[in-house]
Amino acid sequence: MSDRPASQALFERASAVLPGGVNSPVRAFRAVGGSPVFIARASKARLISADGDEYIDFINSWGPAILGHGHPAVIEAVREAAMGGLSFGAPTALEVLFAERLQKLYPSLEKLRCVSSGTEATMSALRVARGFTGREVVVKFEGCYHGHADHLLVKAGSGLATFGVPDSAGVPEAIARLTLTLPYNDPEALRAAFASRGKEIAAVILEPVVGNMGCVPPEPGFLQLVIDLCREHGALSVFDEVMTGSRLAPGGAQERFGLRPDMTTLGKVVGGGMPLAVYGGREDVMRTVAPLGPVYQAGTLSGNPVAVSAGLATLAELTPALYERLEVLGAALEEGLRAAARDAGVPACVQRVGSMITLFFREGPVRSWAEASGSDTKRFARWHGEMLARGIYWPPSQYEAAFLCAALTDDDITRTVAACREALAAT
Ligand SMILES: *Cc1c(COP(=O)(O)O)cnc(C)c1O
Repeated sequence: MSDRPASQALFERASAVLPGGVNSPVRAFRAVGGSPVFIARASKARLISADGDEYIDFINSWGPAILGHGHPAVIEAVREAAMGGLSFGAPTALEVLFAERLQKLYPSLEKLRCVSSGTEATMSALRVARGFTGREVVVKFEGCYHGHADHLLVKAGSGLATFGVPDSAGVPEAIARLTLTLPYNDPEALRAAFASRGKEIAAVILEPVVGNMGCVPPEPGFLQLVIDLCREHGALSVFDEVMTGSRLAPGGAQERFGLRPDMTTLGKVVGGGMPLAVYGGREDVMRTVAPLGPVYQAGTLSGNPVAVSAGLATLAELTPALYERLEVLGAALEEGLRAAARDAGVPACVQRVGSMITLFFREGPVRSWAEASGSDTKRFARWHGEMLARGIYWPPSQYEAAFLCAALTDDDITRTVAACREALAAT
């Protein structure tokens, strides 16, 4: 591995024109110190940096690249669509095919709409939920991330069932007060919230398996409780499957767990690496969306033909064999990392669901943000740097799940575990 002169030079130039040198904060490596690796290109499970170094990729563009980079069928679909024109601002057959395909995979999507980012999907879904119910309060959970819309950048106020406070400058308190933030995996807190404010709640939004505080699975019964309490109180359950959608199963976490939420958001994998996301759900709810109903939502590039082609080509590759392969790879990595931490005598736990995995630098299990945030982030940062120096590109934050792609080989996993042993010894 080089000491990254090209990346360093690019980062200096980038910092002169972009805030923090990046277009999305986590890329700046602030949580682990140091400066980011600039990527020149990628192929299968490998990233090649501007310095010419090769890395085994455990980010996969933060989820989308489930097939690995540059899958021939996806590239060919994109090429073919692009030759026919990049964008028309008029309906196309491709977006109909895409919507039909998604509806087969996700029966809860009785009607759906394409947008261009996960943020737009969750923001729109909640506007629709408010429009449909005529209520204003939204419930979310600490440690879940749903994009950067104002009313979702909110943290818990003091005490349970109190209204939230902004988690970002620029978010008006008047908006934050409409968001109620509860601890994940806490049925009592959820019941209490509905008991005290049930008539005001428009929707409960959650990650059905959390990836955005590291990988945290739902406790048995928690997701069903969300669905049931919403139904009982006239609120809508919104599964934000932007990360888990078509990653944990072809039909997402809702297929994996056999659940049917009122609304769902998708992005990442279903967009095949292009700017494409989706929101949708119950027919009666989605009928409130313009031009049928009074909830306005629109997009110049929504359902873009090139993006939709990448999504369709990706969805076509999602066979049972692919998920079995990811499971085998994931289990091998999980066991390897766990054994490495145990042998090194480092307090740690490995949590994994399918191809989402986190090595938490604390004893487990981790069930909530209160528990996740007790991790030794300094040790994680040192470990991350040592992994990077050994050609392993792990997410640069303790609180981001790592992703496996189907292009990984058994040897890649062996190399990653060996690097982890050395990295732990060096931290
Ligand atoms: C990534 C993510 C989002 C935001 O998607 P963007 O495309 O980055 O706007 C929303 N929800 C979840 C669960 C995510 O993982």
